[in-house]
Amino acid sequence: MAPLDVLAVASEIFPLIKTGGLADVAGALPGALAAEGVAVRSLVPGYPRVLDALDGGVAVASLNDLFGGAAHIVAAHASGLDLFVIDAPHLYARDGDPYRGPGGGDWADNAFRFAALSRVAVLLAQGLVDGYRPDVVHAHDWQAGLAPAYLHYAGAIEPATVMTIHNLAFQGQFPAYLLSSVGLPEEAFSIQGVEYYGAVGYLKAGLQFADRITTVSPTYAAEIRTPAGGMGMDGLLRARADVLSGILNGIDTTVWDPATDRHLVATFDADRLALRAANKAALQDRFGLRRDPGTLLFGVISRLSAQKGIDLLLAALPVLLDGGGQLVVLGSGDASLEAGLRAAAGPDVNAHIGYDESLAHLIQGGCDALLMPSRFEPCGLTQLCALRYGALPVVAHVGGLCDTVIDANEMALAAGIGTGFHFAPVQAEMLAAAILRALAVWRQPDVWRGLQRNAMQTDVSWRRPAAQYAALYRELSRATTPHTVIARSEATKQSR
Ligand code: ADP
Repeated sequence: MAPLDVLAVASEIFPLIKTGGLADVAGALPGALAAEGVAVRSLVPGYPRVLDALDGGVAVASLNDLFGGAAHIVAAHASGLDLFVIDAPHLYARDGDPYRGPGGGDWADNAFRFAALSRVAVLLAQGLVDGYRPDVVHAHDWQAGLAPAYLHYAGAIEPATVMTIHNLAFQGQFPAYLLSSVGLPEEAFSIQGVEYYGAVGYLKAGLQFADRITTVSPTYAAEIRTPAGGMGMDGLLRARADVLSGILNGIDTTVWDPATDRHLVATFDADRLALRAANKAALQDRFGLRRDPGTLLFGVISRLSAQKGIDLLLAALPVLLDGGGQLVVLGSGDASLEAGLRAAAGPDVNAHIGYDESLAHLIQGGCDALLMPSRFEPCGLTQLCALRYGALPVVAHVGGLCDTVIDANEMALAAGIGTGFHFAPVQAEMLAAAILRALAVWRQPDVWRGLQRNAMQTDVSWRRPAAQYAALYRELSRATTPHTVIARSEATKQSR
């Protein structure tokens, strides 16, 4: 099969810069796609952390004015990734995370910072830089949403574009008066354009103009077409349902491998599950909990936000503790949730407020069950890691959690196929009931071990999703290459 060139456009990429699952996906997909004959180059903003991580780098183009200052497009490699990096100090050379300053508020010029990302994507897409010309542009989330719109208003029919929604809650809305300053024509400000409830919508723009829309699980692809899950975009997504599909995320199974994980006290696999005990003991020590191998230890690794249902967990906590369970939480976010978790600390529950990659691995390898009571969850990565580490996920029956965890109900237990526990609707009482269900199965160690083995056999790798993305890219590039158009018209002639 002919190799295919894809330009991925993302505002974060693991391991260079990460605030959530988007970075994991942007970082892992290129490697997985290489096995499918797809060469991915990723375009990312030149935040200080990204520039510092580059192995060399060559400026392949210079721009006099990229939204208020000079910029270079740098071709570089880092951590096995082929990158184009936008070195634009006036937009990206600052402390803080990709979206917010040290004070926690959004950067005031985010409209320009991410318009620049799409503007440069379009220069690359149109073959104007260094002889590079991708077959497909793959835009991730609102930060890259203007790329399909810029291509549309430039009258370009090539290359084909894919817009992936990692989380519909983040939409990138900016005041209408910025329309022309971000380089969009007046005609773009309409319901068939980038206008969204009186604002300029970057995600809306991508959803309106991309040739294909994907999101990160089949169930979320269905949920976002409903008023309840569509966050205002459901009408548009229903109208574009014929080009919308869900492709599950995978995880990097070399980074997340319990048999080799250097963050664990003891490595293990499905045939040596007893070795997990040392990680559990280390985790209980680390969080200052009673050291007891017989207690069901629940874990949470999460942003602390309403989306993640951490308030439901606080409400269900008395049931968890009365039932004889323990809980460790790693996360940061809303101040009230952080305070609630701190206040709940005791001999059987404790929280580490912060972001800690290494501790996340130890929790996956040491806790018995991983809680994800999310109100909505596009895919979720944490439960995929949990499956691989034999920590049974206890999950809300939403989005990607539905698609990746098999509820250990009576029928599934009889068939020997469960991998975790679901609850619905997403309410504290239902979460409490699922926790009690897990505690009941915990008292049957052979059944629990059977579920752990099932979980660990689940294919959570990028192999299948990468094949699905590759098929999508190929279909799109066939549809837009001129020789296929000729072939198609000849086929039409013959059939007449
Ligand atoms: P989201 O992107 O909505 O935050 P996902 O489950 O898709 O949620 O991805 C979250 C990623 O971030 C996972 O890889 C998870 O392990 C990691 N993560 C979240 N919070 C923390 C934390 N406090 N410390 C370390 N890793 C974290």
